[in-house]
Amino acid sequence: MKQLSEAQDILTIKVPNQFFYDWMRSHYGEIIQSTLAEVSGRPMRIEYSIVLEDQPSANQPEPFFEKPEQRIRPGHLESNLNEQFTFNNFVEGPNNQFAKAAAEAVVNSNDNNLYNPLLVYGGVGLGKTHLLHAIGNAYCQFNPQKRVLYISSEKFTLDFITSIRENKAGLFSLRYRKVDLLIVDDVQFFKKKERTQEEFFHTFNELHMNGKRIILSTDRPPGEIGLQKRLTSRFLAGLTVDIHSPDFETRVAILRQKSEESGIEIPYDVVEYLATNIESNIRELQGALIRLLAYSSLAKSDINLELAHKVLMDITGKMTKPIVSMEDIINQASESFGIKKDDIYGKGRKQEVVLARQSAMYLSKELTHNSLKSIGLFFGGRDHSTVIHACKNIKKKMETDDIFNAEIKAFTRRVSGPILRA
Ligand code: ADP
Ligand code: MG
Repeated sequence: MKQLSEAQDILTIKVPNQFFYDWMRSHYGEIIQSTLAEVSGRPMRIEYSIVLEDQPSANQPEPFFEKPEQRIRPGHLESNLNEQFTFNNFVEGPNNQFAKAAAEAVVNSNDNNLYNPLLVYGGVGLGKTHLLHAIGNAYCQFNPQKRVLYISSEKFTLDFITSIRENKAGLFSLRYRKVDLLIVDDVQFFKKKERTQEEFFHTFNELHMNGKRIILSTDRPPGEIGLQKRLTSRFLAGLTVDIHSPDFETRVAILRQKSEESGIEIPYDVVEYLATNIESNIRELQGALIRLLAYSSLAKSDINLELAHKVLMDITGKMTKPIVSMEDIINQASESFGIKKDDIYGKGRKQEVVLARQSAMYLSKELTHNSLKSIGLFFGGRDHSTVIHACKNIKKKMETDDIFNAEIKAFTRRVSGPILRA
């Protein structure tokens, strides 16, 4: 990414693709904005422009990534909202459904006392900040005349300290107390900052008393943050909603959405592979995707399982779970056990056929994401209890029969192919 031009009060930052844009903007947008204002002594606008890689610089750059109507309106310049985080691109799953519903209710309700404050809590990288911005953006959209302010608790603290140093504490209070919707992210960072907590307590009360909305987030249950009791009890007076880790299907949905946003098609087996191996954190999931896109563009190679594997090894330094299909497993079982494929699908009860079939079912359970039911169906329309029985049987045999155990391990390695061996 590079800075190419500066004209009047606009700084244009050229980036090679949407992912850089997203990343720059979410990680550095605020910092660049405030540094610019400080350096130039006047408010400046940042605009981003996506220039396709390999495009000679003399070429006309792509038009702005943002559609004009999505740009920040002047009245909202100070809201600190990042317009790329919306309800629309917030993928819903069982892990965040309740939080999202509450967030939407807050935006749609005319009753400011409903869920006030709304407190969102959840672990790192699970979408709290995204949801907070989405609330702010939707609220702005429905109430263009209202004032919205998004701020992290660290920034609030910093501003407060600066205001004391410059003898402007009164101005500071005013700034926060005149908003209609105050969003404070990561309130756990107020911990041990007693004067800031006190200031925030008064800000909170003033807003709450005047029927203004407050949205908060924290990375742990409010009672466990270690803030002053009176503040904690205020936080708990509204509604607390939590966001959990996404399940496999939600992780896949998120990856598919991000890859759609990037405009680059990513094969489904790669998506499944990433979703299988990065389980807890959406930020990491997205980071892996960004890295994958960067690798493929730098090395000019296709996005495939092998590349995804390299990327994950770099990120986690660990061996990852392979992705294989049940068909691969049956093909390999047929070869390893010397049994015809049709017999594996079939009804035959010969001992060696049963063993090959059960081993293949066992590996399907271990190496794929298919449910017991779909494994049964795939193996010639069998019941899920047959699959359970097969898995038990194979596990038991592996424990008691060393040779068989080694055979299954070898079978597993062959099925996993280049992915595990790489
Ligand atoms: P947190 O604030 O909880 O640490 P973030 O809101 O910063 O997490 O989320 C990390 C990244 O994951 C962001 O880029 C965000 O857009 C993305 N993300 C999180 N949850 C979702 C979701 N449900 N749908 C789409 N993207 C998500
Ligand atoms: Mg956050």
